[in-house]
This record gives sequence, C-alpha cells and structure tokens, in this order.
Amino acid sequence: MDFGLTEEQKMVQETARNFAEKEIAPYVEEDEENHYYRREILKKMGDLGLLGWSIPEEYGGNGMGWMEGVTALYEIAKVHTSWRLSISGNCWGPAMTINEWGTEAQKKKYIPPLLSGEAVGSFAMTEANSGSDVGAMKTFAADKGDHWLLNGSKMWISGGHASDIGLLYAVTTEGGGPKGLSCFIIDYNDTPGVTRIPITKKVGMWPAPTSELVFENAVVPKENLLGPLNKGFQICMWQLNNTRMGCATGATALAEAALEGSIQYANERTQFGQPIGKFQMIQQQIAEMKLEEDAAKLLVYRAAWLKENKMPSQQATSIAKVSGCNAAVHAANVAMKIYGSYGYSTEYPCGRWLRDAKQFETLEGTSNIHMGIVASIELGFQPNR
Ligand SMILES: Cc1cc2nc3c(=O)[nH]c(=O)nc-3n(C[C@H](O)[C@H](O)[C@H](O)COP(=O)(O)OP(=O)(O)OC[C@H]3O[C@@H](n4cnc5c(N)ncnc54)[C@H](O)[C@@H]3O)c2cc1C
Repeated sequence: MDFGLTEEQKMVQETARNFAEKEIAPYVEEDEENHYYRREILKKMGDLGLLGWSIPEEYGGNGMGWMEGVTALYEIAKVHTSWRLSISGNCWGPAMTINEWGTEAQKKKYIPPLLSGEAVGSFAMTEANSGSDVGAMKTFAADKGDHWLLNGSKMWISGGHASDIGLLYAVTTEGGGPKGLSCFIIDYNDTPGVTRIPITKKVGMWPAPTSELVFENAVVPKENLLGPLNKGFQICMWQLNNTRMGCATGATALAEAALEGSIQYANERTQFGQPIGKFQMIQQQIAEMKLEEDAAKLLVYRAAWLKENKMPSQQATSIAKVSGCNAAVHAANVAMKIYGSYGYSTEYPCGRWLRDAKQFETLEGTSNIHMGIVASIELGFQPNR
C-alpha cells in the first residue's frame, strides 16, 4: 500500500495549486459579493487539461485518471469550492457518461468542447417534487417519430443557465418509475422551448450558477437519446457514483481550508498574553478538525483508487462523501468560533466556508440517502457496484 503521490500526481497537484492561486484566488471575494460566474476560468482550466480526467485522449482527455483528478479538484476546491463543480459538471458528469454510454458520433461531438472548457456542462435529474426519489420525476419526453418532445421542469441544476451541453433525465414510459426513465443530451444553444431561470436566493455557492430549467415543447433530436431507452435510472446512478466524488473531494478540501485558516489565526491571535493556539481547548478543536479531515482525505483517495482499478466503489464513494461533508461542516463551524468576532465578519472566509459546507449535506444524495446506501450494501440488501 502506497500513501504517497507519484511524481506525475505531484506535478498535477502543483499545476492545480498554482492555477487556483493565480486564476481563482484573486477573484474569490469579488465574485462572492457579486454572485458572479467568471466563465473564462473554465476555459483556462480546459486549456491546462484540468477538465479531462479518465477520458480517452482521442476525445480530448488528458491521459490521467481518478487519482490525478481528485488531486487536482482538491487544490481548486481548497481555494474556492464553487469551482470544484466544473470538474464534476463537465468531466465526471456529462463527458464521462457520454464516453461510457454514448455512440461514436455523440462522443466526437460533445466530449471535446466539455473538456476544453468551451462548453459549460450540467446534469439534471432533480425536480421540485422529486429530489431523493429520482424515480418520481415527471418531466416527460414523448417519442414523436423523428424527434423527442420534452415537457416539464428541473430544479437546482448546477451550471444550469450557463450550460451549453447537459445530460437530462426524463420519463419515457409513463408509470414505469425508475424503469421508465431515459437520458438525453441537450444542446442548450440549439434547443428551442427551454427557459432557464437563475436561482438567486441561495445560502451559498454564490458564484456558481444554479437554475430552474423549464421545458415547453422542447424539440430534442432523435439521436440525442444517450444509451438504451428506459435505462436512464441505471445511467443516472452510474453517473452519480462518479460525480459524487466531486462532492466528497470538494467537501474534504473545504475542511482543510478551514483547518489551515484556523491554524494560522490561532498562531497569530493573542489573548491573555499568548497565542490562542496555546490554549488546550483551541488545540482540542484543531486536533478534531485534523482527525476528521485526514480520515476523509484517505477515504476520498480510497474511493478514487477503487474507481481507477475498476472495482466496486459505490459504498466507498458514499462513505467518502458523508465523511467529507461531516468534516467540512464541523471544520467550518469550529473555524468561525476560533476566529471569534472576526469569523462573523465577511472580511474573513469563515462565513463562506460555513455557507458552502452546508451544500454537501444535500446535493447528489443527502447524508441520509448515503447512510442508507452504506447500510443497504453492508446488510446485503443491494450489491456494491
Ligand atoms: C447547490 C445545489 C446544487 C445542486 N445541483 C444539482 C444538479 O446539478 N443536478 C440535479 O439534478 N440536482 C442538483 N441539486 C439537487 C439535489 O441533488 C437535491 O436537492 C437532493 O437530491 C435532495 O433532494 P430534495 O432537496 O428534494 O430533498 P428531499 O428528497 O425532499 O429530502 C428532504 C429530507 O428528507 C430526507 N429523506 C428523503 N428521503 C429519505 C429516505 N428515503 N430516508 C431518509 N431520509 C430521507 C432527506 O435526507 C432530507 O433531509 C442541487 C442542490 C443544491 C442545493
């Protein structure tokens, strides 16, 4: 067992770290304040190859896999967790799913712009009345012979109103539940009948676009069905098992950012004539943050390693996601306490850490749903895929 990074992984880490410090860090506070999505960052990520993990080079992949992808996402999310969404939203979501389930024509057309950062990607399953219960979605795709006609709406879609290419899950067999869903590739720049409404009243993730998507007789070409008809639920679960790594890694990185900030503050801030880090109660808080962040990071790398080696990874991914999310929420909460009043000021990042940490408890499966997956696999009720 090797706990170190290879030379190539160290290079990826350094590249992503330098990129995040140079291209993302200078805009963090400004973009937070203005809720501004700085789209050119995505293109720059694409130019550097930071979007092309585990995808064949012939479609624009960077020749590297899960371990390297996780390493890169970690560095980006540490600086600003909103930008970790790009790797999930472009690569591990649509590109990887099209690569697995798509036709040659679909791969050639849609994967390269997602990996180069020319296109903003997305994936849409959630609806106003269908969140955890994916099989209860209502958006309907009617087979009109030479095209699909889409009606319905999706909620909380990351990248949504900025998206160029997205996966969309819809009902194709009424009353079929999970067995009646299919997956479609949507070219948002060439699909009349789609209205995209930004969700502006969000607790966090302010620079990341999140949207409602409304489909009113939206015409989708016949050839944009991804994978077999009525296999959408299976494709969706396959996709989530990959994109959830973005949550697990992003959450753990946020925990590390909050820990590092707290350490710096505890060493600088003096009270009662000494740095507050000398107080045992602060040390206890730092030690707890470190324990959780360290454990979550190992679990993230274990899940990535299982994926890299094409071994069952669903349970490990859920464990990594819940652990990362617990570490993030706890670390952000404690950081705000360690910073005292300054933690409550928007001039320090504690508020952002706390706002952004809370998303991880909900998106791509709530913590309850992930604990359910862990238990079901453990009890033998479902296989570990
Ligand atoms: C910032 C953000 C970005 C998002 N991005 C996307 C995206 O890109 N694409 C997309 O499709 N969706 C996206 N979502 C939606 C997200 O995936 C859903 O919100 C999530 O799956 C939960 O669904 P829900 O909000 O409807 O909660 P509900 O399913 O209504 O759950 C409400 C509560 O009930 C609990 N609960 C539900 N069922 C069970 C059960 N069986 N056992 C125990 N407890 C249960 C939940 O844990 C939760 O506490 C995003 C959400 C957010 C906040």
